[in-house]
Amino acid sequence: MNSKLKTQNSKLNTLCVHAGAEPDSLTGAVSPPIYLTSTYAQRVPGKHKGYEYSRTKNPTRDRLERALAELEGVGFASAFASGLAAEDAVLRLLNPGDETLVCRDLYGGTFRLMRRVWQNYGLKFHFLDTTQVANVTGRITSKTKLIWVETPSNPLLSVTDIAVLAKEIHRKAPQALLCVDNTFATPVLQRPAALGADLVVHSMTKYLGGHSDILGGAVATPSAQINEKIKFFQNAAGAVPSPLDCFLVLRGIRTLVVRMKTHCDNAAKTAWFLAGHPAVGRVFYPGFEDHPGHAVAKKQMSMFGGMVSFQIKGGRASAERFFSRLKIFTVGESLGGVESLACYPWVMTHASIPEKERLAAGVTDGLIRLSVGIEGVDDLTADLQNALGPAKTLRPGRPVKMVKSL
Ligand SMILES: *Cc1c(COP(=O)(O)O)cnc(C)c1O
Repeated sequence: MNSKLKTQNSKLNTLCVHAGAEPDSLTGAVSPPIYLTSTYAQRVPGKHKGYEYSRTKNPTRDRLERALAELEGVGFASAFASGLAAEDAVLRLLNPGDETLVCRDLYGGTFRLMRRVWQNYGLKFHFLDTTQVANVTGRITSKTKLIWVETPSNPLLSVTDIAVLAKEIHRKAPQALLCVDNTFATPVLQRPAALGADLVVHSMTKYLGGHSDILGGAVATPSAQINEKIKFFQNAAGAVPSPLDCFLVLRGIRTLVVRMKTHCDNAAKTAWFLAGHPAVGRVFYPGFEDHPGHAVAKKQMSMFGGMVSFQIKGGRASAERFFSRLKIFTVGESLGGVESLACYPWVMTHASIPEKERLAAGVTDGLIRLSVGIEGVDDLTADLQNALGPAKTLRPGRPVKMVKSL
């Protein structure tokens, strides 16, 4: 994006449309060229135009990385072949013996990467409830090198105060880095680096891509020093996204603000509908005033997100009946696409977490997670109504108001 726009501290929707989207210098093409090339001609050995080999650097990926950095309001970003590949690069910053404090409620694949891969190489992970900042500060030792937080978390949508946590960590443990998984919020709803995070990771597979057609991940950081290491791992280990996938994420980013607005609006109405349904137990949605993280969500997010989880009464049997009756919601893993998805963490996304730890984290056999899409919300609630079974008393669909305008 041109520097004039940047210095004006442009609105996020302007950023989303223009980040990494300057016309092609060779042809003027408005849409980013997809450089499907592995290698680049060198005039004489060692003399080239900044590109040698596409694992190291590719012009389409460059554009995406610049766009991601601008969106997160930091100097640097690196794109990876998946969210987990991005997380893997962050964990490579650690050395054997280093300890990481991790939020207990988190993406199952992240848990697996930590517990079943990196733990074997001498890294230590302690899982705890990060929504209480004192839990984190109480566990910090001289060996603590990383604090890992998902907020809102997956699948219970608990909220951690990033600014307070960052301040406490940097005061008590200057050697430790704070990494926030911003997949659920996206930079449209929350910018963790502005709140003090040292690293921001994304699964671009979700809202950033937005159309359930690619896998991708990202690491963004305000630190040139950290960036240098991440970029080194990106090239050395090679888990890079293809230029075509980079193009598709860039295209997804163009509509991120309008999609997020509709996702959030639909999720608010869906949460309200669920909370009034007699077949539904607890509803997990940070937009509700009685959600334990509501005040923090209101402070650090611009909207409450497109995810809603709930307990269905009757456990597994009811859940299976519910899933078999859905027509518009697709039963599937993943989230953040334009289409609504319903997921059963117990046997799907969180099956890789041992049952005891799943239950300790609050992931029960009655828990259902919805990624609310951008369809007509009345169609979505009618679909849920049909799948939950007939109910006598229904609350009228009162929307929960967005917090801030974008
Ligand atoms: C999906 C997801 C990941 C992993 O990303 P992939 O692109 O599937 O590798 C990490 N964190 C969160 C919160 C996710 O939802």
